[in-house]
Amino acid sequence: MKTDGTLIAYQQHINGQFVPAVSGKTIESMNPSLGTPWATIPDSNQDDANLAISAAREAFDNGPWGKMTGTQRAKLLRKLADIIARDAEELASCETRDNGKLYREMLGQWKYIPEFFYYFAGMADKLQGDTIPSDRSNFFIYTRREPIGVVAAITPWNSPGLLLVFKLAPGLAAGCTFVVKPSEHASVSTIELAKRFVEAGFPPGVFNVITGLGGVGAHLVEHPEVDKVAFTGATDTGKRIAASAAKNLTRVSLELGGKSPNIVFEDADLDVAANGAIAGIFGATGQTCMAGSRLLVQESIYDALLEKIIARTQKIKLGDPTDNATEMGPVANEPQLMKILDFIDVAKKDGARLLYGGKQDKVLGKMFVEPTIFGDVNNQMRIAREEVFGPILSVIRFKDEAEAIKIANDTRFGLAAAVWTQNIHRAHRVAHQLKAGTVWINAYRVVSFLTPFGGFKESGMGRENGIDSIREYTETKSVYVELTGEPRDPFTLG
Ligand code: NAD
Repeated sequence: MKTDGTLIAYQQHINGQFVPAVSGKTIESMNPSLGTPWATIPDSNQDDANLAISAAREAFDNGPWGKMTGTQRAKLLRKLADIIARDAEELASCETRDNGKLYREMLGQWKYIPEFFYYFAGMADKLQGDTIPSDRSNFFIYTRREPIGVVAAITPWNSPGLLLVFKLAPGLAAGCTFVVKPSEHASVSTIELAKRFVEAGFPPGVFNVITGLGGVGAHLVEHPEVDKVAFTGATDTGKRIAASAAKNLTRVSLELGGKSPNIVFEDADLDVAANGAIAGIFGATGQTCMAGSRLLVQESIYDALLEKIIARTQKIKLGDPTDNATEMGPVANEPQLMKILDFIDVAKKDGARLLYGGKQDKVLGKMFVEPTIFGDVNNQMRIAREEVFGPILSVIRFKDEAEAIKIANDTRFGLAAAVWTQNIHRAHRVAHQLKAGTVWINAYRVVSFLTPFGGFKESGMGRENGIDSIREYTETKSVYVELTGEPRDPFTLG
């Protein structure tokens, strides 16, 4: 909001220009900690999406971007990274206003984001093909790694910048162009990022941003000129996107939901494990795909561990996300709030025992939900099976290692898991048996640009980050070169 009380009007970014929606319509962007709107974003529709796709298509097919070498693209990526590092505070502030997550968490993410661009910039001029040792003496064969084309990136509201950069950094390094559709609940940091693309000197059309509701995202997915969809969001949305993309066989990568098990064995350091359980579920107010929402505890230490976790939970400071002393901010938006409150009721009805929290904070306001712990949860209860995406911990007992693994894997999700034990044999043995894309041992909620991230089962398809992720943005082309110039039998396979 401006000092005179009017809302800041943000515009979408198409072909290097900041423009309103074709319809002129806007959506208010809410600040969840204040419960008031602070900005407006365009309510983009199919017309805007078509313009953005045309711009990205033209930039890819005929613009200067398509003619740049990897070395030239890398220089632009590094410049962008430097500008982001300079402006990390401003970008983080926009996200905290939009999604209510702690400023210090968003600032940490924006300060880390340049590393992704530096890393993938280093790969932009190393996308080598192979020379294939031919089984025919008259052929020289080689492969090329070519950029896949126009990418539609569709992102959620919980970490809009970081989750977009998981896609952008490898995609741009590979030479793709982008149309981005951030969440209607948190679009501003992506629009602000577009200003940095202009300053860095990217050619128009390489990075386009349209805003608006899910429907405009669906239009991007269906559009025949989009070559790949890179999506992060809910599993149900991901399934719809995969089905729709299948019509044109558009490439898809999906980073979806989770119900991650955080497993504490009796030989763990209980103080460290209690801290890890808190980090797993109450960090980011539980609004993270990798939340450790199922805490599996060996029965011999169940009471001792819960005592420590509850004691620390009682001290969690709920409040203003811009205050550095705050540990948990508000829930990000109304639909999310309704979902969380509904799950609290469902858990109670299903017989889970409320051990802590379970209410909205009367003083801070309706968007602030207490950190909530349910004990005696059975893995078949809805609270143990569905993703809540909020600060609700389900604690489940297990007898031994075999039962822990069975319960941990008894889920349709497979994004992440953690194992807490001081026994090195058990740590690795269990990690290898968990069906999850990431397993932490004696840690929780760590990601890196160097390490593949993604889900097993219904938590997704494909991997982001790490060396191989750039492959998600390239196609391999094989080129056969005939060496003799002689005609060959046209009626047989060569
Ligand atoms: P969401 O699926 O509701 O929305 C995500 C994005 O998709 C938004 O931009 C939305 O407008 C758009 N969208 C909605 N319907 C669409 C459709 N039919 N076609 C195309 N686009 C559509 O998710 P959300 O509520 O914004 O985010 C929370 C979810 O995201 C949680 O399930 C969480 O686990 C998941 N998530 C996953 C990861 C991961 O990396 N695996 C990271 C963060 C969040």
